[in-house]
Amino acid sequence: MAEPSQKGEQSFRGIPVSAGVCRGRILVIGRSRSSIGKRELTESELQDEISRLERSLVQTRHQLLEVQRRVSEGMGAAEGSIFDAHLLVLEDRTLLDEVIRVIQTQKVNAEYAFHSVAERYATTLAAIEDDYLRERATDMRDVTTRVLNNLLGLEDEVDLRHLKEPCIVISHDLTPSSTAQLDKRNVLGFGTDVGSKTSHTAIMARSLRIPAIVGLKDASSRLETGQYALLDGFNGIILVNPTDQTLFEYGQLLKKQVTLEEKLRDIQFKPAVTLDGHRVFLSANIESPNDAPAVQDAGAEGVGLFRTEYLYINRELPPSEEQQYQAYSEAARALKPLPVVIRTLDLGGDKFLTHLPLPREMNPFLGWRAIRFCLQEQDIFRDQLRAILRASAEGNVKMMYPMISGLDELNQANALVEQCKGELRAEKIPFDEQMEIGAMIETPSAVIVAESLAKRLRFFSIGTNDLIQYSLAVDRMNEKIAHLYEPTHPAIVRLIKATVDAGHLHKIWVSVCGEMASDPIFAPLLLGLGVDELSAAPPLVAPVKFLIRRLKLTEAKALAEFALNCESAGEILARCQELARQVAPSLFETK
Ligand code: PEP
Ligand code: MG
Repeated sequence: MAEPSQKGEQSFRGIPVSAGVCRGRILVIGRSRSSIGKRELTESELQDEISRLERSLVQTRHQLLEVQRRVSEGMGAAEGSIFDAHLLVLEDRTLLDEVIRVIQTQKVNAEYAFHSVAERYATTLAAIEDDYLRERATDMRDVTTRVLNNLLGLEDEVDLRHLKEPCIVISHDLTPSSTAQLDKRNVLGFGTDVGSKTSHTAIMARSLRIPAIVGLKDASSRLETGQYALLDGFNGIILVNPTDQTLFEYGQLLKKQVTLEEKLRDIQFKPAVTLDGHRVFLSANIESPNDAPAVQDAGAEGVGLFRTEYLYINRELPPSEEQQYQAYSEAARALKPLPVVIRTLDLGGDKFLTHLPLPREMNPFLGWRAIRFCLQEQDIFRDQLRAILRASAEGNVKMMYPMISGLDELNQANALVEQCKGELRAEKIPFDEQMEIGAMIETPSAVIVAESLAKRLRFFSIGTNDLIQYSLAVDRMNEKIAHLYEPTHPAIVRLIKATVDAGHLHKIWVSVCGEMASDPIFAPLLLGLGVDELSAAPPLVAPVKFLIRRLKLTEAKALAEFALNCESAGEILARCQELARQVAPSLFETK
């Protein structure tokens, strides 16, 4: 795959997963796992060996919780939650029972037994044509390395915390644990042979804002430590021994990026208003009160979606009312007077909790999820409702329900809120009597009955991630059908419009908090369709605002008009791209 050129420049191509360009010396790190020796044991040694295994599992669990805590504090709760998958490996009874069986029946040492069983699982997962499952293989190998190091009394093989000089890290596979540890000052960028856009390592790289490429195939065995290279995270290219011409061209690109960042800083704290004076509300999505400073730094005007699931994971028991109250009121106080929209628990689908043994479902996204779960597990729900109500006394708190599919669910949830309010009044605990309640619109049925819902709510927040998956019948996690997951599908455009119309008819505001709101390309379409608020990931607030401030509402409306009358998702997307590039070309200069 290397393409030598006359002047010795070689290029390696992979999948770009984190934007940016860097240059420097390469450091190739191997995953040379210590060879795992097989040792035969006597009958009397077996019990001690199993105890040794169990101690190493406990030690591994402590280490993972510590890495998770550091990552959550440093990078955010969502990144920390990546380690839930690792912790789950340690709790996988089938795997652990099999390891113990191998120790007992084959009378062999724990390292050998763990490695052979875990590697068999990982190889099976890695062979499946599904990026999500392949990623689980990486998780499994990451945990296996830790368990083996603990059994063998070894330090972590790769210590990316203490690199001596800035470098571009190249590895066959950089695990999320290693990525989490890397020292941002000395890791200019990284590339791995394997991985996909949705891999946890890729998500981490984006959060850390380190240019990164995955899927470089055999690059780690062809590149050498010390080689000088340029890594282009926009286009997924590593250029070794770049020529003067290449360096010049990338120098130009870097200048453009620096200029863009300056431009973004200039408008960061200005309002999101179009050239013809239309004001849009631009807020941010968060997962924990620790994310509040990022909301302020981003120049967002509040929180449009506080995903509360992250408070529930990695605990033995669900969080108490008091613990939740502390978390919600901390965010409310930190951002006061800006609004904070807290979403009630959206468990299920792809979000699982460790402390609740949920049944395996054939179709988890269509199953016991979100509001459906809460209306049945009312003790859990009431604790949360009381905590949110109490936090409303401390700032500008609003609340919304996820996955509402019809009026009955809304009425039941509202009735529970009334009960909780009654209790708090009786207990003389303060809360905001006027706290606004809204609903996420993320099922097609909710759009169809949106007028009935709107009469009973103060706002809508369109969850495009789920609305697209449910309307187009496309699993949002399945890479094989990712091409069908089209935000500009004419059906989606019309569903958004119908939601806006129903909301405005009943004089309530309509927000979008799904990923569509984080992509500047779609901002004109959403504005043109009449959406009042966009809630984006904090790092994307400034680019979206930048584009809005260069747009005219008349252009956005013309685009929406076109989209509403168009029959092709591809044509609508092309028009969105064309308008976005025309009004804010500097956002899209990556070559
Ligand atoms: C959505 O569905 O668009 C949404 C914001 O909710 P989540 O991604 O948490 O399901
Ligand atoms: Mg959703």
